[in-house]
Amino acid sequence: MKDLVADNLKRSSNRRSFMKKGLLAGTATVGAGLLASKSASGAGSTQPATPGDIAILRLLAAAELIEADLWQQYAELGGLTPGQLPVETAPFTPMNSYQAAFMNLDSDGPQYISSNNMDEQSHAAFLNAYLQSIGAPVVNLDEFRTLPSSKATGANQKIGRLTNLMKLTVDTSWYTRYHSATNPDSGATFPQAITLTNVPGIPRTNADFQLSNIQAIANIAAFQGLSLANVKEWKNLNLNYKVVARIHEEKCIGCELCYTACWDGAHQCIHLDRVSESWDGHTTPASYESRSRAAIAVTPIPKLDGGMSERVGAEPYATPLARIPRVDESECVGCNLCMLVCPVENCITMERIDTGLPPQSWEQRSALGIPVKVQH
Ligand code: SF4
Ligand code: SF4
Repeated sequence: MKDLVADNLKRSSNRRSFMKKGLLAGTATVGAGLLASKSASGAGSTQPATPGDIAILRLLAAAELIEADLWQQYAELGGLTPGQLPVETAPFTPMNSYQAAFMNLDSDGPQYISSNNMDEQSHAAFLNAYLQSIGAPVVNLDEFRTLPSSKATGANQKIGRLTNLMKLTVDTSWYTRYHSATNPDSGATFPQAITLTNVPGIPRTNADFQLSNIQAIANIAAFQGLSLANVKEWKNLNLNYKVVARIHEEKCIGCELCYTACWDGAHQCIHLDRVSESWDGHTTPASYESRSRAAIAVTPIPKLDGGMSERVGAEPYATPLARIPRVDESECVGCNLCMLVCPVENCITMERIDTGLPPQSWEQRSALGIPVKVQH
């Protein structure tokens, strides 16, 4: 049974690590690169770690120790109850209101916390073991474990803590950042979503288990749960909400990546229709390619042909209009793909357009019996 429990915890831990721990995945990747640097020839032999490698590994080990410290505190009070089987094996019965509050956020919240704790402990142990194996000094933060444990039942009273989860000041500006269309790289700033100053993320004493706001304490620990407020079932989404891609012609460099992406992976509604006509008024990749081949021989090349062509100088932008794609907004489904591939910042923006129609969900539309347009 012990093995079964361990296996389930490991499996769960791996799954969650992969899905939810992008940062740690990055950390592990960096570590793996440092741990297995190849020789210049590409053969599998390893080179000795440089002082720089060791410094990075020690920094990562310190970060993992700090993270392990806080996850351990969450796990002691909100994780699986000691002796409790993993939720994959048996239904979880919360033993305290803090665990129950996590289950309100995610039905296997306690399992997630326990698994993450195991992740962090193992990352820290692994990095230190590796440092030791190459004769480098390990990282030990024990002298900084001066903070007291929670007094609530379940918290380990025999160790000091590195992090204080009973007086948290939380930066919640990431929430407004991820819900904003503005760009921090362009100087945009973001206010706090809510003010969380000196608030507990774990129960401080057993009295906190009785608090009516124990859910708030768990929410602070799992602040990402707030994004769930924006998640709706597909059948409740507004079918008349329309977003389309807009190309800002003055910024376009004519690379046509958006055109290729839309034709290859989206709704084939970006067109280079200023250069030719096709039977339906749209240019297709095949017809465009054949015309391009024919035009190459006579296209002026500024570097070789002495300056810009007359045509370019006569147009409003530096990029010839013929190379600037256009979006057929009636067909665009707002998938974002073109915006993602465009190399010029803010050259393609996603814009909401007013369809003039009232909000209507799939459920509402089905109830009215309105036939759904099917595209073949
Ligand atoms: S990807 Fe951007 S820069 Fe390139 S053609 Fe499209 S809009 Fe212009
Ligand atoms: S948002 Fe999607 S469908 Fe619309 S133009 Fe861009 S790639 Fe095409």
